[in-house]
Amino acid sequence: MNLPRQLETILDNALDERAPTKEDCAFLLNQPEGSLGALVTAAVADIVSRRRFGNRAMLLGQIGIDTAPCPGNCRFCVFGEDHTTFERSELPLDEILLRAHAFADAGDLYGLFLMTMHEFDVDRLLEIIAAVRKEIPDHTQIVVNIGDLDSSAARQLKDAGVGGAYHVCRLREGIDTSLDPEARKQTFRAIRDAGLDLYYCCEPVGPEHTAEELVEQIFLGIDYGCFQHAAMRRVYVPTSPLAHHGQITDRRLAQIVAVVVLATLNCPETGNIAVHEPNLLGLAAGANVVYAETGANPRDTETDTTGHRGLDMNDCRKMLYEAGFNSIRLGDDTGVDLHLEYLQQLA
Ligand code: SF4
Repeated sequence: MNLPRQLETILDNALDERAPTKEDCAFLLNQPEGSLGALVTAAVADIVSRRRFGNRAMLLGQIGIDTAPCPGNCRFCVFGEDHTTFERSELPLDEILLRAHAFADAGDLYGLFLMTMHEFDVDRLLEIIAAVRKEIPDHTQIVVNIGDLDSSAARQLKDAGVGGAYHVCRLREGIDTSLDPEARKQTFRAIRDAGLDLYYCCEPVGPEHTAEELVEQIFLGIDYGCFQHAAMRRVYVPTSPLAHHGQITDRRLAQIVAVVVLATLNCPETGNIAVHEPNLLGLAAGANVVYAETGANPRDTETDTTGHRGLDMNDCRKMLYEAGFNSIRLGDDTGVDLHLEYLQQLA
């Protein structure tokens, strides 16, 4: 098999744990999604990732705790205030606790994510965190997925027992959203300065994004030392203002996951790679993390994503098993073995 010289050099370097440059990554992303180049890149990323992370996967669960017409106004999100049909609503605390138990009780959840809209009530969030912290095992971290925040709020979250925060300066932030890219980056600094893990992602990818745009966004997460990197496609929602662009395939998403995996070889802080939404092609291209979801979901037209777009824990466990992972990492860095009997016991 003859691969183009440039491709072979990039992939040989990756197998020797040398990360591709930005130019290399753009070259990889410009390979057509079904080409030999793209498929070999995914295979190499799979090998590199399993070696780096010890063939250990992670399960995460996210609860969307409120919905509202959101001033972030992202044109890819069902909650953007200029186009949403959602009204303000909040999950009551007892419902949040029930859902936290449903995610965490089996004992293999690395982190429980609490997601709000861009604007959120810090005091309510802190109350919820305190209540959830008492109910879930110590080895399950609490992670927040919230709007921009300053250093003082980040430290309050850290003091409340939060382990990390999901935050992204999205593709075409400030163009396809009403948010300020600089405010997003300021929040990265607040998160890192408070000692929280940064969960990052190349998102929300659509067919219109160029390889160079993807590369710049991928490397931004690396520049800020993200604990988790990832790739997520924009889900086609017919009523969203960006719907006319369509949606990339899971195969293209897996190709982007593979490039993320290789690019993060230069980021010692990166401890795992996610694919959103969960899918086997991404898990065979270097991703080792999937999220179960319940409650509000920016990619779902249902108020509660449970049983709709959101997968449950058993779906996610099974997917990790089918992808060949043999262990699940917990939030205290211990792990549980993943095998058929384990799946049957929890089914
Ligand atoms: S993606 Fe987040 S910030 Fe943007 S509109 Fe949706 S909820 Fe708001």
